[in-house]
This record gives sequence, C-alpha cells and structure tokens, in this order.
Amino acid sequence: MKATVRTKNFYQTITLQFNKAADIMKLDEGVRKILSYPHNEIIINFPVKMDDGRIEIFKGYRVQHNNVLGPYKGGLRYHLTIDLDAVMGLAALMTWKTALTSLPFGGAKGGIQLDPSQYSKSEIERITRRFTYALGDNIGPDYDIPAPDVNTDAQMMAWIMDTYVSTKPPTERANNIHIVTGKPVKSGGLEGRDAATGLGVVFTIDEWAADNQMDLSKATYTVQGFGKVGYWAAHFMNLRRAKMTAVQDHSGTLHNPNGIDVEALYKYTKTNNGGILGFSGAKSIEQKDFFKVKADIFIPAALANQINDETAPMLDVKLIAEGANGPMSTEGEVICREKGIDVIPDILCNSGGVIASYFEWLQNKRQEQWELSDVNVKLKHKIVKAYHDVVSTAKEHSTDWRTAAYIAAIRRIENVYKERGIFP
Ligand code: NAD
Repeated sequence: MKATVRTKNFYQTITLQFNKAADIMKLDEGVRKILSYPHNEIIINFPVKMDDGRIEIFKGYRVQHNNVLGPYKGGLRYHLTIDLDAVMGLAALMTWKTALTSLPFGGAKGGIQLDPSQYSKSEIERITRRFTYALGDNIGPDYDIPAPDVNTDAQMMAWIMDTYVSTKPPTERANNIHIVTGKPVKSGGLEGRDAATGLGVVFTIDEWAADNQMDLSKATYTVQGFGKVGYWAAHFMNLRRAKMTAVQDHSGTLHNPNGIDVEALYKYTKTNNGGILGFSGAKSIEQKDFFKVKADIFIPAALANQINDETAPMLDVKLIAEGANGPMSTEGEVICREKGIDVIPDILCNSGGVIASYFEWLQNKRQEQWELSDVNVKLKHKIVKAYHDVVSTAKEHSTDWRTAAYIAAIRRIENVYKERGIFP
C-alpha cells in the first residue's frame, strides 16, 4: 500500500513557523515583510521530445527566496507533489538553513512536476537538460546553485553542469562547474557529498543522545524514506549499532522487531527499482501501522507533512530527527509537543547536505580536490556548532527547538539587513 502524501498548504506551515519566531525575537517589521515573500518565482513550461517522437510539455519551477547572505542555494526535486506552494516553502527553509549554519548562501528550491518512474533514462536526461537550458541565466555558479533532492541524483547534476557550461564560451567553461553541487566525484563532486545529509542527521542525534544519556548501541529507530538521506542515516546509525526496526518508502512498509539489515536492504533496493517492498528480512505491514512502531528515534527522510493530525497521535518515540524537509504539519507538531517528543528540526538536522555542498562549491572555485576525512571533520564541526546554537537560543527564549533554530537563523539575516540598509 502506498504511503500518504499530504503536502497541502506547505508554504503556510513554513510561514506560521517563521511568524512565531519573528514574534518571539521581536524581528524588525521591515525585515519581516521582506522575508515573508520570495524574491523570484520562476515557472517555465518547456517542451521535450519523448523516445517515441512525441512532444511533451513539462512545468518546471525555481523559487529564489532570499540572497542577502550569498547566492541562492537549494535542491531540485522531481515529483508529482511539486507545485508553487511546495517550492516556495522549501525555498524559504533553505534561507533559514544556510543562515543557521553560517554559510555564505541564500535559499532557493526548484523542481519539475512529474513522476520520474514513468520516463526512460534518456527521457529524464533530455528533460533535465532542457529544463537547465530553459532556466538559462536564472541560475549561475555565483548566483543560484541547484543540488540533488527527491528523485534527483549526481548523474542529473552532471547533465545540468554539462548543459550549463555548454552555453558558455569555451574559455569560461572550466570556471563554471560550480553551477551545481552534488556532482559525481570525477566530474568535480565532493568526496562524501552523497552521504553528508545522512551523516549530519546522525551527528545531531549523537549530540542529543549524549545530552539525554542515551546509549545509541542499545537504541531502536525507524526510518521513513530509504533514499539518499534515509539510507545514509540508517548506515551511520548501523555503525553505532542502533537497531532499525521499521522502514517505509513509496513502495511499502517493513517491520522486524529484531532489527532490519540496513546494508542487505540497500543492496535489495538496487535490484528492485529502488523500492523496499518484497525484502525477505522483515515483515510487510500496513502503511499506517508504521507510525505505531515503538522506537527510541524516528527519522523521517521522505516528503513533507507526514507527521500530521492523523499520524502524530500514533507515534511512540522519544526523538524525531527530521532528515526530510518539513515532515511535520503544524497540528502534528502540537501533538508531538504534548506527548513530550523531542524534535531536531529540519533546518538543523538535515543541514549536512548544504554544508557539504558549500565545501564542493569552494573546492570547485579553488580548483581543489578535498579528502573525505577533511570533509567529515569540517562537516561535524559546523553542524555541531549549529546544534549548540539552537540549544542555547531555545534556553535564552524559553522556546522549542524549531522556533529557536528559526530565531538563530533570522537574527543573522536581520543583522545583515540592518548593516546594509534597503536600496535606494
Ligand atoms: P530520494 O529521492 O533519494 O529518496 C526519497 C525517499 O522517499 C525514497 O526512498 C522514496 O521511496 C521515499 N518516498 C517517496 N514518497 C514516499 C511516501 N509517500 N511515503 C514514504 N516514503 C516515500 O530523496 P532524498 O534526497 O533522500 O530526500 C529525502 C528528504 O530529505 C526530502 O525531504 C529532501 O528535501 C530532504 N533533504 C535531502 C537532502 C539531500 O542532500 N538529498 C538534503 C536535505 C534535505
């Protein structure tokens, strides 16, 4: 049975969170107005020739929320739930995330409304290249830098880079490869970028576990989404000998109270079109029963609004570590708070991806190749610092961690607006 997809009014959820933080921190009213709107909302209808010769029209989005701290930065998602509302919300989250982690970037997000499983690899390549071409100079290596997200990967980033640099004069091509991050390593990508979001999730869980005297080698956890973020988070939890007792993806839900073999499941998905359904090392259960599985930690790593008024009452966990962007609705959040569940909010928890993207961008600009060990040390340093900023901001304002994360992020942006002023 397919998992529920509830992404209605996502931008409204993000705006409510923003306004709550703005009220508590007494944000300057002018800055509040500026941050309440994205700078640019780009929608492009573009044609692509299918394998059978037909022409299909696709709708692509790129929302650039804010760039006061640096170039717009954020992923590209290929999914049927992609629309202006979803992309506006996800773009705003990127602004808060890059500010919280002190990166010299702003926030953006984009994508195409489609179900990629309905297209061949060569069709996906042509869709990706044509969308890049249609975006033209609306993106740029020092202006707006896309990255992978749901259903997009390193291969697609290589196509985007190749298409973008092909539109530049030959003398400028090598200086433009930082147009995207999350590229394959041989094409200028960063060692460890693929694992970085999941590793960052687990670095924040390490900090929480230490603060809460939880021994992760005795802990159980569940994961929703077994893609780039979900798998790597499970991989690093596995290295800490924590036990994954349930996992859910678009194809189904698996449960095994004795623990699911993460690496065997990952291998299985590679032979099963990416889906977990049918794996023999666990029992298949109903989609809604996933939320009832008792565990110490729940890692949502799929889509938005999954923890909502229907699912939150079923949860029996101590911590939610938000690998996904916006996995909790406003109602879901209230229910989790009443139940005493701690939440490591998305803009902190999954920031390892954009932190590593920043390293890739620097690596390309400096024409360097960084070592994996350096990447992981630097990543840990940045995300752990952001974690402690959130903890101290929460104490300072006596508020929840999500609001604290927003306050820490927005404060940085507010200070820059105050220093720079508004032109003219
Ligand atoms: P992905 O495409 O690699 O994986 C997505 C996973 O979600 C897949 O396992 C898919 O089966 C599952 N899924 C899709 N629909 C589902 C549904 N209805 N119910 C349950 N599972 C479903 O994508 P990803 O890059 O791992 O991104 C996952 C989440 O993490 C997204 O919210 C994304 O914005 C966020 N995120 C990703 C990165 C990154 O670096 N990739 C960084 C920060 C945040």
